[in-house]
Amino acid sequence: MLGVAVGALRRHEVGAQEEIDLRVGTEDLPELGLAGDLQVYGKMTNLGAEGIEVAIEVDGSTARECARCLAPVTVPLHASAEETFALSGPWPSVVEDTLDVKPMVSEAVLLEEPLRVLCRPECAGICPSCGKDLNDGPCECTAEEVDPRLKPLKKLLESREEKR
Ligand SMILES: [Zn+2]
Ligand SMILES: [Zn+2]
Repeated sequence: MLGVAVGALRRHEVGAQEEIDLRVGTEDLPELGLAGDLQVYGKMTNLGAEGIEVAIEVDGSTARECARCLAPVTVPLHASAEETFALSGPWPSVVEDTLDVKPMVSEAVLLEEPLRVLCRPECAGICPSCGKDLNDGPCECTAEEVDPRLKPLKKLLESREEKR
């Protein structure tokens, strides 16, 4: 839970705003694999009977692996999210004058998750035959050699070619 107290804001007039400024530690959201603390900042608006509107920005970075060579990569992260917390009823709602912004922060981060992370665009990756990191230079394997695991597939493809 990342609780934000809204008791004071709710006692203000409709339309009143209050700032949010939270530092979220990696241990608060371990499932996200953060590389460091997240900075969460933004505004809350008192909507009266409709609840509290929350608009946040999230800044930080996540620890990932290069999809080609598996080297650790720190991916910068910036996300934003908006949500209205009702005064009662199903989530998200205000409970005992507190908002839990954790699910909101978590979802915002996951939506920004890159599909494929590379340590650098030209990463040469790892040789599928010998496992050498090709960023350190070429390996002994020849370019034509097929990965032994793929040989049956190559044969199959060749036999199909012949039948055509
Ligand atoms: Zn790489
Ligand atoms: Zn090799």
